[in-house]
Amino acid sequence: NTTVYYDDDADRSQIDDKTVAILGYGSQGHAHAQNLADSGVDVVVGLRENSSSRSAAESDGLRVKTPVEAAEEGDIVSVLVPDTVQPAVFEQIRDSLEAGDTLQFAHGFNIHYNQIQPPEDVDVTMVAPKSPGHLVRRNYENDEGTPGLIAVYQDETGDAKEEALAYSHAIGCTRAGVIETSFQEEVETDLFGEQVVLCGGVTSLVKQGYETLVDAGYSPEMAYFECLNELKLIVDLMYEGGLEEMWNSVSDTAEYGGLTRGDRVVDDHARENMEEILEEVQNGTFAREWIAENQAGRPSYTQLKDAEENHHIEEVGRPLRDLFAWSDDGDEEEEKAEAP
Ligand code: NDP
Ligand code: MG
Ligand code: MG
Repeated sequence: NTTVYYDDDADRSQIDDKTVAILGYGSQGHAHAQNLADSGVDVVVGLRENSSSRSAAESDGLRVKTPVEAAEEGDIVSVLVPDTVQPAVFEQIRDSLEAGDTLQFAHGFNIHYNQIQPPEDVDVTMVAPKSPGHLVRRNYENDEGTPGLIAVYQDETGDAKEEALAYSHAIGCTRAGVIETSFQEEVETDLFGEQVVLCGGVTSLVKQGYETLVDAGYSPEMAYFECLNELKLIVDLMYEGGLEEMWNSVSDTAEYGGLTRGDRVVDDHARENMEEILEEVQNGTFAREWIAENQAGRPSYTQLKDAEENHHIEEVGRPLRDLFAWSDDGDEEEEKAEAP
């Protein structure tokens, strides 16, 4: 019985006469800043000296100041720099927050894992569109919305939630629907999802399937199509109509084979591993590991990234994608082209 908030549930007087400081002008920053400005809200963008994002923000017609100056002006300070640099940026702007201001995030990692300890006299909220920034911007321009989450961590003024809803309205999220969650739930489900299913689980499934076929002597190109390329068709069907639409759309043979074999691949052992990974998210083990990895200059991360880029499936896939027209509607290229 989750409440979904729409445009009518938002009280725009909660934001219309306020100034919003947007720290960072990347994926989320450029979208929030432009959507707010187009909604008539006063926006100031905070960027470090020599920021590579400065020219984009200025040519989009926005006022650009340093993070400290922007935070001083802002009644709402929206922290939209990468999660790993947020604690350092927060230390710079901490003293620029006034009683009753709002410190706002689009992801709860640093608050939930105590990497940022906000002053007690400010509101701390989250407005998290469930989309990359370029879609948040594009949807707004097309009079469409982007679903989003709001959360309140600290409500000093008593209207933190109303303000977060008004902000969601101004960036277009209440057009599509906004759900309230907590910082804890947002962080733990987000990390679990990306590690176990979306980013980690799927890539491992693809690579293991591909390697099994290639090791058995099948052609890498066939293995690539079966184990990676066709995944999009299946995911599109699930996105549109759940598992049911997917099962109804594939052949009976695929359905029977999948229903009888799927749980043998992702079996009880995989389920135990999922529970273990969830525990590492819940008890902070993962967060500590990732923070230490960053402090050490990302040695493992760099190594793992390199290995992934050089995986056989990538070497096979690059020329194949160039050969076929279906790579043309890849969203990734669009995102690169549009990212400021
Ligand atoms: P980006 O990586 O796109 O942010 C880049 C921006 O941050 C640039 O303007 C960059 O400017 C600035 N920046 C980087 N380092 C610093 C620094 N040390 N000091 C000041 N500015 C700096 O971030 P995202 O938009 O991806 O993420 C922002 C927040 O939104 C995060 O909390 C993330 O979890 C959340 N989020 C992201 C989503 C996404 O799809 N990307 C979806 C939902 C939430 P410069 O040129 O100076 O480096
Ligand atoms: Mg407030
Ligand atoms: Mg995430």
